[in-house]
Amino acid sequence: SPFLATAALDMAALADLDRRHLVHPHQRSDRTDRAVIVRGQGCAVWDADGAEYLDATGGANWLCQVGHGRAELAEAAAEQLRQLPYFTSFDVFSNDKSIRLATRLAGLAPAGLGQVFFTCGGSEGVDTAIKAARLYHHRRGESERTWILARRFGYHGATYGSGTATGFDGMQHAVGPNLPHVHKLTPPFPYHSEWFEGRGCTDFLIDELAAAIEQIGAHNIAAMIGEPVMAGGGVVPPPDDYWPRVRALLRHNGILLIADEVVTAFGRTGAWFDSPGRGMDPDMIVTAKGLTSGYAPLGAVLFNEDIAAAVTDDGFFHGYTYFGHPTACAIALANLDLIENEGLLDRSRQIGAWLREGLTAAESLPVVGDIRMAGATIGVELVADRATREPIMAGPAATEIRKAHGVIVRDYGNTVVIAPPLVMDEQQAARTVEAMTSVLTRLHPDGTIAPR
Ligand code: PLP
Repeated sequence: SPFLATAALDMAALADLDRRHLVHPHQRSDRTDRAVIVRGQGCAVWDADGAEYLDATGGANWLCQVGHGRAELAEAAAEQLRQLPYFTSFDVFSNDKSIRLATRLAGLAPAGLGQVFFTCGGSEGVDTAIKAARLYHHRRGESERTWILARRFGYHGATYGSGTATGFDGMQHAVGPNLPHVHKLTPPFPYHSEWFEGRGCTDFLIDELAAAIEQIGAHNIAAMIGEPVMAGGGVVPPPDDYWPRVRALLRHNGILLIADEVVTAFGRTGAWFDSPGRGMDPDMIVTAKGLTSGYAPLGAVLFNEDIAAAVTDDGFFHGYTYFGHPTACAIALANLDLIENEGLLDRSRQIGAWLREGLTAAESLPVVGDIRMAGATIGVELVADRATREPIMAGPAATEIRKAHGVIVRDYGNTVVIAPPLVMDEQQAARTVEAMTSVLTRLHPDGTIAPR
């Protein structure tokens, strides 16, 4: 009804229509408590009933680096919409904003990754990278290199390619056949020392990788994909020697390395890109999210020159309608300006330090197994027993933090995640810590939460 476009609808009315007409990502039929968000400014967002929340998760998806409601981005979008909202990049065509953005990204990326392919988000980017890896080897006469190595608990997206590379079984359950030739490795997760048979984490994982290469055959493997720091898997920075040693072993075997920086780039972990600081030296980077701070759907895949040359030689029959979308690219350019001009990479590390220091008291709570961080991104892993590391699912704690304290955090399995806009101030960090600590203090090992 046309009435719907203009009528003032309260939260209950919207939630009811939501139930009737929306199929949500990762939806469960037992969800009855939708929070309908209608406005944002900085780190604050408001729901349809006017209640204010502190958004400690950047749009609840690790991405709103510059904060909500930035007029600069609204103006960049409006100007581009007036000038040229869209034009294709297929055939002979290109547009000025995508050219400028690709050039800008080439300047920010690790040396050598100067060729940019645009997507609408991370999943399409991961699929693009998988296709590019296979095509690269094919064009070089090694067509049998089709296998992709990925890791359990890595999250790479929801399409068939990215979803198969994702290390959560639910993504592949009952929708198969999934993408063939994907092999999962154990992730570098120092806290879970029980996975490493009493050996050092990296030593164990390098031996496991070498054994997988031996078993599958190096000549059959196209690429390995991994997040420099696993995000959805629980905010898990790897040991310092993990990526350099993985990198060396892959290179020795002619296997490409794809860095999934969908979450980690654009200041999320304190740098433009996270992979250089971890010694990852990838052949391709997939990114999205913080590229536009979520103001428009946009992702990018950065290729090195050899890969770009190999896939375009004789044609790369791959691409999306919204490739290099001028409005999305104009927003991205303005977003990168804000990140740079406002010093948000430094700010990210400062926010991380405030949060981490504030959470010191929570470290000794019986339900807190581990606290991990990378820049302004924190994961608190909840356990029923610190000796066995038996998990407590983090959903109820995240809900209590939102409902009782008005702070939005996310739960990923048994980890509570904080990943705020990179404009969070010290007082907002303190409020986040306070909410988190209060709820974790009231959380019992059986998963119940005592009232305040
Ligand atoms: N890769 C990582 C590391 C992600 O966290 C995500 C999404 O959360 C994706 C890829 C998929 O990106 P998208 O949801 O934009 O398709």
